[in-house]
Amino acid sequence: MRIDILTIFPEMCTGPLGLSIIGRAQETGLVTIAVHDLRQWSSDRHRRVDDEPYGGGQGMVMRCEPIFAAVEAMRTENSRVVLMTPQGRRMDQTLVQFFTGITHLIILCGHYEGIDHRVVEGLVTDEVSIGDYVLTNGAIAANIFTDAVVRLLPGVLGDERSAAEESFCEGLIEAPCYTRPPDFRGMKVPAVLVSGHHEKIAAWKQAESLRRTAANRPDLLPEQ
Ligand code: SAM
Repeated sequence: MRIDILTIFPEMCTGPLGLSIIGRAQETGLVTIAVHDLRQWSSDRHRRVDDEPYGGGQGMVMRCEPIFAAVEAMRTENSRVVLMTPQGRRMDQTLVQFFTGITHLIILCGHYEGIDHRVVEGLVTDEVSIGDYVLTNGAIAANIFTDAVVRLLPGVLGDERSAAEESFCEGLIEAPCYTRPPDFRGMKVPAVLVSGHHEKIAAWKQAESLRRTAANRPDLLPEQ
């Protein structure tokens, strides 16, 4: 997979995405992530990419010309052009899974008041929101989207089971996990987890997963 991120704050992406699991995935060639400064495609002599909104109102709007020029320079017939926006489809694990099957993602990051809507009409294939709240900048959302997609690519997580057994994979949130010490300030690790009895451990995990889902995310439970 190749991911091109277009932003006016490249450092907001290169730092976070260059570290840890996503950094290693790039080093081992499982994914190529290129972060581009959108100002490169500005024809303005001050490299500005924004202007005042038509119709009045607060804030500045990102102009469409640099965004069209950038996307047209890198788009292929296999590309999907994803706009990070609070107005998009709210991201969940099913949507993330869908994007793991795409070979080229171009991710557009908004700033200011937003992006000239002709970008949505003429370029964007998918509008994606990371949740029902408003951030200052799309680069933060792009990091979250990229991380969630890349970690599901084959070979990125060391243990393939870890992606298959975690929260949302089977509709519920995952059971709690513990490590040493077995007793911390009187709080003990559940005895079943140190019993070595695999069937009982599996049954406990299933029951805890249901209990935690009912407590924290009842909306995920199947309707009775
Ligand atoms: N005026 C816009 C609105 O009300 O829908 C919000 C603009 S926001 C201040 C600036 C940029 O941050 C957006 O263009 C988008 O790229 C990004 N952004 C903010 N919240 C987001 C979210 N929940 N999901 C994805 N991107 C978001």
